[in-house]
Amino acid sequence: MKVLKFGGTSVASSQEIRRVRSIVGNITGTRVAVVVSAMGGITDLLLTMATLASEQDPEYKKILKEIENRHLTCIRELLPVDQQSAALSKVKSELNILETLVEGAFLIGETTPRLLDKVVSYGELLSSFIISQFLNADGLDACFKDSRELIITNEVFGKAAVRFEETNANIRDYFEHNNTQVNVLPGFIASSSNGNSTTLGRGGSDYTAAVIAAAVEAEELEIWTDVSGMYTANPKLVKQAKAIEHISYEEAMELSHFGAKVLYPPTIQPVLSKNIPIRIKNTFQPDSPGTLVTRSENGKGKTVRGISNIGGIALVSLEGPGMIGIPGISKRFFEVLSLAEISVVMITQASSEHSICVGIAEQDADLAVTVVNEAFAYEIESRKLKPVLAEKGLAIIALVGDNMKSHQGLSGKMFSSLGKNNVNIRAIAQGASERNISAVIVQEDVKKALNTLHEAFFEEQVKQLNLFVMGVGNVGSKFLNQVQQQKKYLKENLKLNIRVVGISNSRTMAFDENGIPLTDWEQVLSKGQPANADQFLAQIRKLNYRNSIFVDNTASEDVAAMYESFLLQSISVVTCNKIACSSDYENYRKLKRLAREYNAPFLFETNVGAGLPILDTLKHLIASGDRVHKIQAVLSGSLNFVWNNFNDNTTFYEVVKQAQEEGYTEPDPKIDLSGIDVMRKILILARESGYQLDIDAIENKSFLPEESLETKDNDAFFNTLEKHEPAFQQLYKEAAEEDCKLKYVAEFADGQANVGLHKIPRGHDFYNLEGSDNIVLFYTERYPRQPLIIKGAGAGAAVTASGIFADIIRIGNF
Ligand code: ADP
Ligand code: ASP
Ligand code: MG
Repeated sequence: MKVLKFGGTSVASSQEIRRVRSIVGNITGTRVAVVVSAMGGITDLLLTMATLASEQDPEYKKILKEIENRHLTCIRELLPVDQQSAALSKVKSELNILETLVEGAFLIGETTPRLLDKVVSYGELLSSFIISQFLNADGLDACFKDSRELIITNEVFGKAAVRFEETNANIRDYFEHNNTQVNVLPGFIASSSNGNSTTLGRGGSDYTAAVIAAAVEAEELEIWTDVSGMYTANPKLVKQAKAIEHISYEEAMELSHFGAKVLYPPTIQPVLSKNIPIRIKNTFQPDSPGTLVTRSENGKGKTVRGISNIGGIALVSLEGPGMIGIPGISKRFFEVLSLAEISVVMITQASSEHSICVGIAEQDADLAVTVVNEAFAYEIESRKLKPVLAEKGLAIIALVGDNMKSHQGLSGKMFSSLGKNNVNIRAIAQGASERNISAVIVQEDVKKALNTLHEAFFEEQVKQLNLFVMGVGNVGSKFLNQVQQQKKYLKENLKLNIRVVGISNSRTMAFDENGIPLTDWEQVLSKGQPANADQFLAQIRKLNYRNSIFVDNTASEDVAAMYESFLLQSISVVTCNKIACSSDYENYRKLKRLAREYNAPFLFETNVGAGLPILDTLKHLIASGDRVHKIQAVLSGSLNFVWNNFNDNTTFYEVVKQAQEEGYTEPDPKIDLSGIDVMRKILILARESGYQLDIDAIENKSFLPEESLETKDNDAFFNTLEKHEPAFQQLYKEAAEEDCKLKYVAEFADGQANVGLHKIPRGHDFYNLEGSDNIVLFYTERYPRQPLIIKGAGAGAAVTASGIFADIIRIGNF
């Protein structure tokens, strides 16, 4: 015999019930027991109805009407007209009894657990009756059997315990004396020896099916639901989760105990003892293989089989200096909880025995605090123990796998990947079986934690980076185009999946949790909401994604001021904006420290030399023990462009204008021409070399006339350039006469830095620097006379964008 159980979604309406018909109809050569849940959502409606009635709220009648409509509609849609009236009148008369029961609760203004069980039993009773009628009408040899006549329990209403001896005898007897091919039975409900209706706990239809399967020693128990098996993690929270092909009873039990709702935890025990395989299948995709649950094949398969989560947890810890001295303290602690019928989900105890901490259901937390504080009143009074408190709003996440015990490093990997993503762990437990490592975290972090762990243990091949991009001007738009072009390559070759989740310019901002389509980002952004930096940050926090990276393509001081908030949330920062790293030394140090502390890289390669790998090279020199003595550099692509193109046939004004138009200058060209930009760069190089320096200690011999330096906007600035043309011509002439070229040079030596225009003679390393190229000479302990030279295009949107991109890939490999 086979036992098939169909859950609430699988029997939610006539359409789904037709699928059930086709699945059951395909089984040949063996008899079947079909156990069904209430139609999806009906159990909740019945409970709400009873609660409203007990609060004497007449609204309960509307719910009753809704329940009636759903069942009657289903009959009308399923049964042929001539067979409808008998079924309709049977269901109506059952609903009349239900109405009388609930009216009773309304009149006396209360319900009891016993009444609630009676009320909810109608959900399964009606669905199983209707389904049996339909299967019969549609040509199957089917009958209805009330499970309450077979499954006998104690009278713990709401979650009754099965009395197996009587129950097994009843079930065997029924199936021995009945030859119908398809037996439809209500799940979840049972009865006590006194004949009262009881229920087996929410989700308990799975258990009904298992009890029947074990009693008749069925060849297989099939759980038909709305997902294609037991997944590596809850598929509603982890998109990349996959159905597990094969899993052991113990693993399945552990996963379901820690929240994999697809299987009600007690379900496994009865079938395990008879070694009956469970197959979890999808009613909506009957051809998917689903998950097979059997005895463990020791040593085979993956170490981590699945990750589960359970919400609504509170931590209660008993602690105090007197813990060690008080005998039997844990025994008393657990006894008190057990007497109050509070079940403990998880236990941890520090080895010092200074505290015991338990995870319990949040709704039991207040009661737990009261009973424990009462029980230990004397010890608390005499200060041996602290009064217990409950911390609510928590969840447990657990890694589960039979083979975890034979592998080292799993918990290390678990906690380091959570740590990298700023998931704070409140408590940890590892079962002695080592089939489970669990951690308590705050509820808000569950989705991120599950996805982080899923990526670490199941998707090692591809790492997802979630980008939030601020600024889509020259550099930003090129950057987005480059990401679009490289996406496929990165995924295939570097196993990095780059997803741009948020974009903002100064006017609008847009988010898409599935990634903004990069062929269409301009369109998406133009239709976005008004830009607001605080809300941009708030949204990134709310999404709470792992591997989040904030990309700053602006030159804005306000945006630079946000980095600290990002790093504090373990969100990495990649920026071409030099303001933060050239701000006061304390701020620079703080950002670097936060990046280390919160495991969030803070990268700004493009602050010096655009896409040239200058800072990265410097970082490696320092990390490998080298020391920088002197730096000489031409660091301004814009100034280089200007002085390379300026001569006695051009005007200074025109050349600067051209540099601005071609994107070689900052939006405000005075920042380049005044030398401030170069000061910032040499400052950053000095700081990254390990020296403490501030910008006002850098000497700047500006070639600009005082009047140009004092202008307030671009127009005024350009006007002064036109006006002072002779002065610029004079500079050119003097250099030309000495056969020199003019270069704007930055120098750092002996802890001092200066910038200024130099006449560079033929033969010098700087003489042949073309176009907007940059060059840096590092004189170090290892390169004392012949410096380490980095040279190449040092300005322009495309190279800057590629430098930002390179930083992002560095984070991907972090
Ligand atoms: P049914 O009504 O068929 O009994 P349930 O809602 O009780 O179905 O269980 C199926 C649901 O369990 C899925 O829709 C899914 O949201 C949830 N679930 C949680 N964890 C897992 C997991 N690891 N694998 C599969 N489903 C899971
Ligand atoms: N209908 C019950 C519930 O919703 C039992 C079940 O579906 O398994 O909890
Ligand atoms: Mg279920």
